[in-house]
Amino acid sequence: MPLAKRLCSLRSVMWWRRSLRAVAFAVAALTASAAGVGAAEPLLAFGARIAGDDARTRIVVEFDRKPEFSIHYVANPVRVIVDLPETSFGLKPQSLEPRGLFDAIRYGGMGVGTSRLVLSAKGPVEVSHAEVKAEEDGKSFRLVLDAERIDQARFDELLGDQQWTGTVRAVKTDRPVAAAKEPGAFVIAVDPGHGGIDTGAIGSVTKTEEKHVTLAFAEELVATLKREAGVEAFLTRDRDEFLSLPQRVQIARQKGANLFISVHADTLKQKDIRGATVYTISDKASDHLAANLAERENLSDEIAGIPLQSEPAEVADILIDLTRRETQAFSVNLARTVVSSFEGQIKLINNPHRYAGFRVLQAPDVPSILLELGFLSNKDDEKQLLDPEWRKKVSGLLAVAVRRYRDTAVANGG
Ligand SMILES: [Zn+2]
Repeated sequence: MPLAKRLCSLRSVMWWRRSLRAVAFAVAALTASAAGVGAAEPLLAFGARIAGDDARTRIVVEFDRKPEFSIHYVANPVRVIVDLPETSFGLKPQSLEPRGLFDAIRYGGMGVGTSRLVLSAKGPVEVSHAEVKAEEDGKSFRLVLDAERIDQARFDELLGDQQWTGTVRAVKTDRPVAAAKEPGAFVIAVDPGHGGIDTGAIGSVTKTEEKHVTLAFAEELVATLKREAGVEAFLTRDRDEFLSLPQRVQIARQKGANLFISVHADTLKQKDIRGATVYTISDKASDHLAANLAERENLSDEIAGIPLQSEPAEVADILIDLTRRETQAFSVNLARTVVSSFEGQIKLINNPHRYAGFRVLQAPDVPSILLELGFLSNKDDEKQLLDPEWRKKVSGLLAVAVRRYRDTAVANGG
């Protein structure tokens, strides 16, 4: 067993090396090629099934080409992470309906060149057998995963033994570490909520996924903001990929953002509630609705199988604390400006400025708001969210708010 385990972790390290090499190769191919030879096509997962009970569960995923894979475990709650090369998932949603040992199954893109399958388990589990088999015709491949229930001690052992390097923990992106900003430019980071494996909420009528709604809106908003003199705007993600919450904050800070706007369109149990809400961060939530929403938003990293990272050391720093307080005042100011720009123009919920402990609003030095454009659980809101004209209108109102905010911030030396 220990040898097998060692081989397994060795294989996973080698896989990452190989996959890094593959990415480098793909980039080289892209740059070198004038003949249109692009990066490798993603794998296609075209079929899947799950069978089993509370003791053993088998999952099978069918691919068009042979998938390299590696398996890891995460605790609290127990999750099995299956990392794959970039894969497009053409699966019927019901084909991996959770059952047996698993109570949630998600899959999707994790950044450039990588995809992931996250199996959330009801208790400690181990993938006792995992292999890729070629189908008889040699035209497709089956990834077979057999999981079985184990006790906590064995699971702790698995956690302790696994080789999970920093490269694997960190979601890879191809973004430059820092981008130069024009001197004197006012830079706005627009953050489309969710993405990749984290679909976000689902529309009640059209079943549209929140991650697509947020990206479409964020693209419009960036284009609108860029037309403002002296303003630069950028997206934290410009495609359907997963970014962890700390990563979104990090991208904004690295690019020298003066403002951070995270865009969302969640769902509520009360389907009649509609309208926009502007959130700022706070240790104490303004109300139940805000608290529940923040709790759900903060699950994003868990959904994607990212182990919770401990806070960076700088959080304890007193100077950071002072900066944070100042930033907080600016965030509240921005939220109020946005609300007043929306008033009478678009539908707002009661008390449209609310606050709660959103992890994505944690930048100590970048004033940040989270904008719930409306609720995908309300059919009128859903219709608007899918309307490009409405998105244009709201983006225009936000640009006005940013202009006003900027004027007062400059006047106050901010
Ligand atoms: Zn959301």
